[in-house]
Amino acid sequence: MSFLPLYSRVTGIGVMASRCRREAIGETVREKVDLPAGCKLCRTCGESEPHGEWHRDATASDGLSTHCKA
Ligand SMILES: [Zn+2]
Repeated sequence: MSFLPLYSRVTGIGVMASRCRREAIGETVREKVDLPAGCKLCRTCGESEPHGEWHRDATASDGLSTHCKA
C-alpha cells in the first residue's frame, strides 16, 4: 500500500508536480527508464518532476539543473 505516503507527500509539496509523481510512484525511482515523458528525477528530492519545475543549466547533459526548483 503506497497510497497514504504518496498523498501526504503530494499534499506537502503542492499539486503542480503531482501528476509526474503519481505516474512514477509505481516503481519508486528505479531508473530514468521508468520516468514519465517530460519528467526528470531530482536527486535532491528523490522525486520525478516535470521539466517545467527545473532550472536550466547549459552545462548539464540534458540542459537541466541537477535539482528541481522545489
Ligand atoms: Zn527536487
